[in-house]
Amino acid sequence: QAKALGRNTYSFFTNEMNIIIQRRMEIEEQMRGALERNEFEIYYQPQLDVKNKEIIGAEALLRWHNLALGNVTPDEFIPIAEHTGLIVPIGKYVIKQALCFLNQWQNIQHQKYTISVNLSPRQFRDNELLSFLKNTLTEENVNPESLELEITEGVLMSAQSYIHEAVAEINDLGIKLSMDDFGTGYSSISYLRQYPFDVLKIDRSFIHGITLNKADCDLVKAIITMSHSLGLTVVAEGVETEEQLKLLEELSCNFVQGYYFSKPIPAQQLLDFSVNHFK
Ligand code: C2E
Ligand code: MG
Ligand code: MG
Ligand code: MG
Repeated sequence: QAKALGRNTYSFFTNEMNIIIQRRMEIEEQMRGALERNEFEIYYQPQLDVKNKEIIGAEALLRWHNLALGNVTPDEFIPIAEHTGLIVPIGKYVIKQALCFLNQWQNIQHQKYTISVNLSPRQFRDNELLSFLKNTLTEENVNPESLELEITEGVLMSAQSYIHEAVAEINDLGIKLSMDDFGTGYSSISYLRQYPFDVLKIDRSFIHGITLNKADCDLVKAIITMSHSLGLTVVAEGVETEEQLKLLEELSCNFVQGYYFSKPIPAQQLLDFSVNHFK
């Protein structure tokens, strides 16, 4: 009896692990051919100026639709893409597409628009990153100041000299640097001073609480004050309600993005959204 139970428990456990491992392997396998099969699409989430509610730019967010797997979320496939190194070619695709779109968007509507692109730690180990950025900006005829690269603290934590150099070179090119998901990691002020950041994005887990509890509100207020004294522009992520927007305006937050204005949407929809927005 005990033996049977033991065996059952054992096999239940391996089944669970097998499912996780198999899923990972399947994602990895499918991802290897995904670029060639044109399965990726970039969605764009508009960012707005809190003061006048005008669109200032958008964040590029990767979407993947695969025939066998259906839609796979970035939270699931990005870590696997990083682990396998596939994020390097995929990340280049994102930058290329986003700059191509930005050029159109600026020409059709407003030269002031910016696009921000997420950059994984693994992409910094690519020797061609800098030349790729430089060449693609030229090819797509986009001003470096219109491109913003979002990195998380995780990138900087390794404290490797090549990261320091790459960040400095990115800054020298005139590309903007943004600290993403601020508040979720160590929230190190020393990184903010050490590296040439232009923008700080407050993680949406804090924005969620600002109208609900004083502690979160005070924290966000302090982050905004600190950021401004360091000369950083502040973006609030995950703004979902009018109350949050009003409060962020009172706290002098610069820009917002979130479902309140728009979810991430395909390029054509962003063009429509931003045209109608200014009517
Ligand atoms: P992130 O860079 O922090 O992007 C913001 C995430 O918050 C996006 O999730 C967006 O859809 C979501 N979001 C925006 N506003 C709201 C809101 O009001 N409410 C809620 N609940 N969520 C909101 P998404 O698109 O699923 O991306 C997840 C993460 O995957 C990103 O977080 C980023 O770290 C990563 N990622 C996405 N695209 C890329 C990419 O091209 N390259 C790299 N390296 N990472 C990417
Ligand atoms: Mg981001
Ligand atoms: Mg700079
Ligand atoms: Mg974020």
